[in-house]
Amino acid sequence: MADHKFDYDVLIIGAGPGGYVAAIRAAQLGLKTACVESRETLGGTCLNVGCIPSKALLHGSELFDEASGHMAKWGIKASKVELDLPTMMAEKTKAVGELTGGIEFLFKKNKVDWLKGHAKFTGANTVDVAGKAVTAKDIVIATGSSVTPLPGVDVDNDKHLIVDSTGALALPKVPKKMVVIGGGVIGLELGSVWNRLGSEVIVVEFLDQLLPGMDGDIRKEAVKIFKKQGMELKLKTKVTGAKIKGKKVTLTVEPSAGGDAETIEADCVLVSIGRRPNTDGLGLDAIGLELNKRGQIETGHDFRTKVDGVWGIGDVVPGPMLAHKAEDEGIAVAENIAGQTGIVNHAIIPSVVYTMPEFAGVGLTQEEAKEQGIAIKTGKFPMMANSRAKTNREPEGFVKIIADAETDKVLGAWMIASVAGTMVAEVAIAMEFGATSEDIAYTCHAHPTHAEATKEAAMAVTGKPIHI
Ligand code: FAD
Ligand code: NAD
Repeated sequence: MADHKFDYDVLIIGAGPGGYVAAIRAAQLGLKTACVESRETLGGTCLNVGCIPSKALLHGSELFDEASGHMAKWGIKASKVELDLPTMMAEKTKAVGELTGGIEFLFKKNKVDWLKGHAKFTGANTVDVAGKAVTAKDIVIATGSSVTPLPGVDVDNDKHLIVDSTGALALPKVPKKMVVIGGGVIGLELGSVWNRLGSEVIVVEFLDQLLPGMDGDIRKEAVKIFKKQGMELKLKTKVTGAKIKGKKVTLTVEPSAGGDAETIEADCVLVSIGRRPNTDGLGLDAIGLELNKRGQIETGHDFRTKVDGVWGIGDVVPGPMLAHKAEDEGIAVAENIAGQTGIVNHAIIPSVVYTMPEFAGVGLTQEEAKEQGIAIKTGKFPMMANSRAKTNREPEGFVKIIADAETDKVLGAWMIASVAGTMVAEVAIAMEFGATSEDIAYTCHAHPTHAEATKEAAMAVTGKPIHI
């Protein structure tokens, strides 16, 4: 298969979940493959400073929270629960090391060359990597994304005063008071970590609700849940500036719609207002590839860009900035390059917020269905009435199924439950197979499981749940 005009059949720029998966699949398909990565370790944002370290701290802080109070109601008495933050951080670092090392092993196993350094296009088939020209018949841009800066609130992770998600994953001590700017996924996940470890957390959110993109019922419930967990929520509020004095940050905030400004003093500020695609220094001018208005690289359904032989996947192209979306695109792009048919169904990409409880969803929200003029029927079932959640003393949340009013085809599902991230997978599969709510309702679910709430929500679409 190798084309000897080029050093490689495929060169992938970036070794995040998009790039490393594309590289492994391309190599599995017999293509001579290299992956360029400028970071010291493979795995991209997700493994190094994203999904994995955040989930490690979410898990560690949940254990601390359980031991500090909730275990007592089960008769488990821990007389003096102490936090050893350096040990928790070390365990996180160990998990990251094992996972990034795992990708290095997979590269070797599949004979993918890791080219270390920053890649810059010098032509459609050529990139410069650390001063060396490398050529490939096909090149995949999988350069990912980085934190969107907030003017006037400058991040300096080393000082631990104004941090982004990377800084918030490595604080040396628990801040007394933390202000989180942005009530999206990062703000709520990392805000939950530090809230559980003892910080007073204030979330400043520009909009009137948390978690943009999720179903309206979920967003309303999120406000109640995070308030109950002790976070202060300042909705419809924007931050206009920050001043550092000694070990304190003073933020100026005002209503989003304009009005009187006030100040909030904090020991640490987390800026989490979104992420933007990484394209700086990539030399896109050299190949005449323009960005769209949001700074993303546009592709067709097959992930081809407008430039012949150049492809794009993951956070750098439109769509949700999620690791599993990037991974699936990685597989599809490699298959397309190899002459197969690689497809990603962008209508069925689950999203999960890994707080406690978890928030998850897939497909259309009720609001999107309305906007699209689709007549729907919905079924809802509270976790309070689910025997397993009740037994575990996890009463918060519900499952909501959205189905087409005429055909009963499932269009979306939204849920809040301790294991919602695991539960949502069954609805994604059902939707891939074009299931109706009746199909889910008449599928036998094991008892007692949280997943029975999904079955009952599907039964509720026709008004016939058993346990409410
Ligand atoms: P990235 O993972 O960003 O990888 C791109 C890689 O390309 C980087 O390693 C970068 O160094 C490299 N690179 C860039 N430019 C060049 C160049 N010119 N030359 C060489 N190398 C280059 N998503 C989830 O689905 N679940 C989660 O739980 C989750 N948690 C997250 C938590 C946090 C704190 C953050 C920040 C993100 C989280 N995400 C999560 C999002 C997820 O990390 C991204 O969607 C995912 O990493 C995108 O993958 P990617 O391959 O497109 O890019
Ligand atoms: P986000 O888009 O989820 O949330 C950003 C929030 O900040 C929004 O609610 C927005 O209204 C608000 N905001 C924007 N400007 C503001 C301002 N000036 N003042 C106050 N609020 C402001 O972005 P994020 O939380 O930074 O996460 C970035 C990306 O990373 C997301 O796209 C997400 O998909 C991904 N991610 C995913 C997971 C997961 O899957 N569990 C976890 C972390 C990150």
